[in-house]
Amino acid sequence: SYKLSNRIESVEPSKTVAFTSLIQHLRKQGKNIINFAVGEPEFETPKQIIEATKHALDSGETRYGQVAGILELRKKLAGDFAGYDLDNIIISNGSKQCLYTIFQVICNPGDEVIIPVPCWVSFSQQVRLAGGVPVLVPCLDNQLDCEAILKSINKKTCAILINTPNNPTGAVYPKSDLEKIAAAAEEHDLYIISDEAYEFFTYDSVKHESMFNFKNIHDRLIITKSFSKSFSMTGFRTGYAAGPKPIINAMAKLQSHCSGNVCSFAQYGALAALSLDNSIVKNWIAELNKKRDMAFDFTSKLFKCIKPQGAFYLFPDISNYLKKGETSGDFSSKLLAETGVALVPGEAFEQPGHVRISYAVPEDILVKGFKAVSKYLQ
Ligand code: PLP
Repeated sequence: SYKLSNRIESVEPSKTVAFTSLIQHLRKQGKNIINFAVGEPEFETPKQIIEATKHALDSGETRYGQVAGILELRKKLAGDFAGYDLDNIIISNGSKQCLYTIFQVICNPGDEVIIPVPCWVSFSQQVRLAGGVPVLVPCLDNQLDCEAILKSINKKTCAILINTPNNPTGAVYPKSDLEKIAAAAEEHDLYIISDEAYEFFTYDSVKHESMFNFKNIHDRLIITKSFSKSFSMTGFRTGYAAGPKPIINAMAKLQSHCSGNVCSFAQYGALAALSLDNSIVKNWIAELNKKRDMAFDFTSKLFKCIKPQGAFYLFPDISNYLKKGETSGDFSSKLLAETGVALVPGEAFEQPGHVRISYAVPEDILVKGFKAVSKYLQ
């Protein structure tokens, strides 16, 4: 076997990426797969984005550019953050790279990052890759357990990570809880990393509360957002971080050594996304709201499930269906083999006994998939 670094040996591969590969493999073998495991909306990328990308290519935007991203895009994004200018923004290869870079620039060996769980797959591995220690704090009914979070703070704590709307639970955290977290960060001199990749995806008139609304933490807040889900352009790999200039500078320094600028023409596609007619995304959200209702109806008949108000996932408790010693990974594998329905096991999100269901799929597929799951469980 090959000798690899301790660093890479200490992390696990992304369980959701592994699952996506398995689905692709099964499809290649001719199996009919109903994919409730997707982490992206099924909407087509708006044609204005495609056209702007093609136009950038035709006009020669095919070269190295500024590491932190094209000026027009950073300037436009900075406009969403009162008091910020383009130097408060860095464009990276998806918010995934932003988050990776953030941990690299803020963590020293042994520094702790508090992460409410269940949580997105990459957070704890990214913290580990930065030499930090992920401190996983269970949520209460998918909401933040502020008391438990505050109790986890100690001398080694470096940051608290917040992800709202949340992947995998779909929870949208209320202002009152976020305010408590902000106050604690201020009191204990901690960074707040706020992953707002699903900022547009909220339902039933529930509003996403950005951590940027708390002015008292602007000197310690790093927000990550993404074009991936917001404009259905996951393959463009374009996300961004907004934060204090010294942090953004440090991130750009790291990025200059590991990837340089994000694909030049992809950034022009992203720029076009910011000028899209609001109605496009609004219609997507209305469609997803309907699908959320349908999916929740089906799911709550089968499993214990909290109705989520955001993102495009349900995260039911399937433990009633598990035989002794069985994991949600076993459950998902069997379900996939027997019905062709793919779900992501909760272990991927640090929460066994659950599965994540993505309802960002066509309506007929949604119905077909849930019928297959109901029949299988009976
Ligand atoms: N953060 C969360 C919570 C996510 O669910 C994802 C993608 O699934 C990301 C970040 C990364 O997305 P991207 O790198 O495409 O911006």
